[in-house]
Parts: sequence; structure tokens; C-alpha cells
Amino acid sequence: MKSTAHAFRENSRRALADPGLARALTRFRAGFPLKRAQAVADLPEFEALRDEGKRIKDHTLAHLDLYLERFEAAVRARGGHVHWARTPEEARAAVLGICRAAGARLVAKGKSMVSEEIGLNATLEAEGLEVVETDLGEYILQIRKEAPSHIIAPALHLSKEQVAEDFRRTHAQLPPDRPLDAPADILAEARTLLRGKFLAADVGITGANFLVAETGSTVIVTNEGNGDLTQTLPRVHIVLTGIEKMVPTLEDATTLLRLLARSATGQEFSTYTTVSTGPRRADDPDGPADFHVVLVDNGRSALLGTEMQEVLRCIRCGACMNHCPVYAAVGGHAYGWVYPGPIGAVLDPALLGLEEAGHLPNASTFCGRCESVCPVRIPLPRLMRLWREKEWERKLTPAPARHGLGLWAFFARRPRLYAAAAGLGVRLLALLAGRRGRLRRLPLGGNWTAARDFPAPAGRTFQDLYAERRRGG
Ligand code: SF4
Repeated sequence: MKSTAHAFRENSRRALADPGLARALTRFRAGFPLKRAQAVADLPEFEALRDEGKRIKDHTLAHLDLYLERFEAAVRARGGHVHWARTPEEARAAVLGICRAAGARLVAKGKSMVSEEIGLNATLEAEGLEVVETDLGEYILQIRKEAPSHIIAPALHLSKEQVAEDFRRTHAQLPPDRPLDAPADILAEARTLLRGKFLAADVGITGANFLVAETGSTVIVTNEGNGDLTQTLPRVHIVLTGIEKMVPTLEDATTLLRLLARSATGQEFSTYTTVSTGPRRADDPDGPADFHVVLVDNGRSALLGTEMQEVLRCIRCGACMNHCPVYAAVGGHAYGWVYPGPIGAVLDPALLGLEEAGHLPNASTFCGRCESVCPVRIPLPRLMRLWREKEWERKLTPAPARHGLGLWAFFARRPRLYAAAAGLGVRLLALLAGRRGRLRRLPLGGNWTAARDFPAPAGRTFQDLYAERRRGG
């Protein structure tokens, strides 16, 4: 997926002016956060479970080389294949090679954010393969030629009316009198089309929520069951995933599964949890003849052992974006790449570079809600602040901000001068605001006053009031 993260400001302005998006985000705000709060309230050991989830991921990351090798050995022992991909190019080449070797023409795909990250669909299509997304949200976006706007609810920015219109435009077999008013109608229509694709597909590609080192298994969760059909019906199953999805044991995976659904959608468990271990065995009723795992690095291993390593604990539940006031205002597309919201503000600069994605860690109010709900306790605001520091050190911060902060630092290091200047500035602003008590325009604050008035300071500084209190006034 091509990044527009560098254009976050323009993307955000466009998003804020979109009334359809505003309606969708209002619906969204009322959904997941409330369900998560209820699910957490129903599980007294939830906080202890978060500690355990963090411990499992920290331990795995500290020994990732060992667990990756153990996983590879276990997959091979069960007749599967493991492909290592350092870059998006290598990952695309690995998947394409498997498809070609299988003589594939049709590929069914489950939801995979890594496939978005490496731009897989375009590569396969350019080579003449038909690729069909089987997650309903991803399928809708595919026919609209749009990118996901959320990692677990990729089409949340759309209304059902828009989807019905898209189906009428693109589904040649859809009778004009067939109703598409209710979500169930839309679902039925998608199912009719996708069932045929599942049956005809030569290759199924899924992501993985977890990789289990001890058994060589991959685990995915879905609420639609499309993942099961994608990985059991085609002849070949390819799991495309990042190396950080590793956990040591199946028991560790179940601990994290207990956190995942509650944090993501407020469910105790996702409707389908599917564990795949190697290709079909002689006495299995179904399953693929060939099983491949493509392990993608793409910048992840460079974070190991650094102050950013904690971001690799992420289990992609989406809770941080579900609770983020910035995401709730601008939606996912404004972030300009695969991972939006607070996790994107930390991960995207790591994977894309600070020059491309440097706006994202600045798009935060630091309210801390993301960290308070993260099931594996990633200190997202602290990591965003680290990116800001790096931006400053590398002189990537815009000149007005650098000069403004330099001026503030000059005064902040001289408390008496600071108090005198602040007192003068406050009185001046109060005078300019007059009886209205608001300023329409503010020197150096044009971006603020372009959308709202600036409330005038009360006329006395905090230091004045504090000194007065100490004097007993
Ligand atoms: S950073 Fe935490 S809350 Fe956000 S998606 Fe990852 S695990 Fe979930």
C-alpha cells in the first residue's frame, strides 16, 4: 500500500469535512469502547491477564531468534514449508513463487494487514492471478478500490447504503429486485458470491494472529468463518505474517486469545478460532495439500533491543484506535498507511521512516487512553514522545515549531523572566480581548483561530495566584 502519511494534515482536513465519515465515526464511538468496558467488567482477573500477556510477549521477544527457529523446525517436521522474507519484495516474491508452482489462477484471501503492508494484491494481479478478499469488510473495499480504515473493522467508514450501491454496480448476477436494505441482505449477497470463489480457489492466503513455536501452528480468529474456508478448501494454504506474532506455547496463545477478543470487540472469544498445523494428513477429512508460512521482517527485527521494542508486543486488537479521540475525529484513512491510530503513530515511523510518517506521533493529545486499554500494556504515548525527540534531534521538526520551542526554553530556564513575560502577555491578551473575553485572531496562532475563538486569559497568571495564596490572601 502506498503511503500518504506525509500528507496527514491534508488528509485530516479532508476527513473532517466529510459528513458521511463523521456519521460513521459517531456510530463507531458508541460501539466497541462500551462493549470492551462491559467485557472487562465481567472478568475480574482482566488486569492480571494483561500483565501475563505482557510477560509472554516480552519473554518471546527477548528470545525471538530461538522461537523462530523452533517454529520453523516444527512446521517442517509436520510437512510444511517456511519462507523468510526480509523485505516486502522478498515476501511478494515468495508468495508469487508458491502460487506459480501451484499453477494457481484464483487466490482466496483472508484479512491480512501484512499483505496490505507489502502491497501483495497488486503484485499477484499484475501476474494475471485473480485475487478475492473473503473478509466482508475487505471484500467491500476491494470492489471500491479503497484501503482499510481500521485494523479489525476495515470498512467502518462506510454506510450500508453505500455498500448496497457498490454491490448493485459490481455484481452482474444480482437481480434488481433483490433487497439489500438490511445488513443480513448484504451478508447473504456477499456469501452467495464468495462461496463459489472459496470452492474454485487454488490457493488460500491468510494472516496469523499468533504463531506457536512448540507445535509449528498458526492461529487466526474471525467472526465470519471466512478464514476457515480460505485455509481448508484450496489446495495450497499460505500464511503471511510478521515475525513478532510468535508465542512459545499453545497455552500462551490461549492467554493472549482471552485478551484479544475482549479488547477488540468486547466478545469473550471471537466466533471462530482456527489452529492450522501443517498440511492435510492422511486421515484428515479436509485441509490443504501444501502448507507454507511466509515470515515477514520488514523492519521489525531492527526494533529488537531498542527503546521501541515494546511496540512489537502488539496483538493488533485495535483497542487503542477505538479509544483515541484523534482517530475518532479523522478516521483511519487520514493516517495514510496500513496501521492507523496510536499503534500506527508508533509503528508506521518505524516501518516507513520518520521522514514519511513523522506527523503521526505528533497527532496525539497524550490523553493516555490508548495505553490504559492496551491489553499488552504498550506505553504508546511514551513511544510517540520518543519519536518526537528523534524528530527534534534530526532537525525534522518544522522551523516555526523549533524556533517557538527554543524561545520557550530560553524563558523556561529563567524563571523570573518567564514570570514577568507571562504576566505581561496575559494582561496584553486580556486587554486585546476586551469585554467579549475572546480573541478572533491570535499572533502565531492562526491555525487555532481559523476554526474557533481563543478564550482570553483571566488576567492573572498561575504564579500570581499561587503567590497570593501563600501570602494568605
Ligand atoms: S497497541 Fe495495544 S491496543 Fe493498540 S492494537 Fe496493539 S495491542 Fe491493541
